[in-house]
Amino acid sequence: QRLLDVRGVTMRYKTQAHLITATYRVSFSVLQGDRFVVVGPSGCGKSTLLKAVGGYLTPTEGEITLKGERITKPGPDRMMVFQEFDQLLPWKTVLENVTFPLKTTGALSGKAAIDRAMQYLEKVKLADFAHSYPHMLSGGMKQRVAIARGMAMEPDILLMDEPFAALDALTRSRMQDELLALWDETRFTVLFVTHSIPEAIKLGNRILLLSPHPGQVKAEINSVPRGQ
Ligand code: ADP
Ligand code: ADP
Repeated sequence: QRLLDVRGVTMRYKTQAHLITATYRVSFSVLQGDRFVVVGPSGCGKSTLLKAVGGYLTPTEGEITLKGERITKPGPDRMMVFQEFDQLLPWKTVLENVTFPLKTTGALSGKAAIDRAMQYLEKVKLADFAHSYPHMLSGGMKQRVAIARGMAMEPDILLMDEPFAALDALTRSRMQDELLALWDETRFTVLFVTHSIPEAIKLGNRILLLSPHPGQVKAEINSVPRGQ
């Protein structure tokens, strides 16, 4: 039932002049089927936390486990969807973009990969655009392709970093409704980060409010951040 455990995770960045505490002793658990939303103002450490769950960054302190196993590197069990529209490969078609991770990880090949990709493109209502190139699509459609690509891998958890933040308000609202419908249909587990409280309330079944803490004020290197 418990899928992801984040235990006492502190993340620090060391730059030439500063020691920046991005998150301080954050703990939470994501259960199977959760729409778990982490919400908080810009700079409170949401992206950093999500990148740690993705395995792209290592916690300074604390640990993150998926199904009891410590996360040490990125993996196909944790697919990520980003805010940027340019996360798709521009020289590959929509279908090729979705089959790409399936093929490169060796999860599926040939017709099986295409069938799987089409199955998820249908779920996001983009089957008709399978042979289009990303640049031919609107921003909302590109994000739907990115979601289909993540879901097609059937990961344990889908990590979403403000995927609708760059969309206009109307498209964003439509995308939220579509995502909720998808969840109803497929019951996949998602960890979603956003700075928007209305978005968190609309999408989440459980919500973690992350607030900036004093140590986030840039500390001179070799000094201990305040509040710690
Ligand atoms: P959020 O996603 O909530 O906006 P971030 O995780 O992007 O927050 O950033 C948290 C803090 O860490 C901020 O103070 C930010 O400036 C800092 N930070 C993020 N990435 C880096 C980095 N690569 N190097 C140094 N500081 C960083
Ligand atoms: P959404 O993608 O969420 O449906 P958009 O505002 O991105 O909303 O697009 C509105 C509609 O216009 C889309 O549903 C789609 O059918 C159509 N559309 C957008 N871009 C294109 C395109 N390049 N080719 C064909 N139809 C498009």
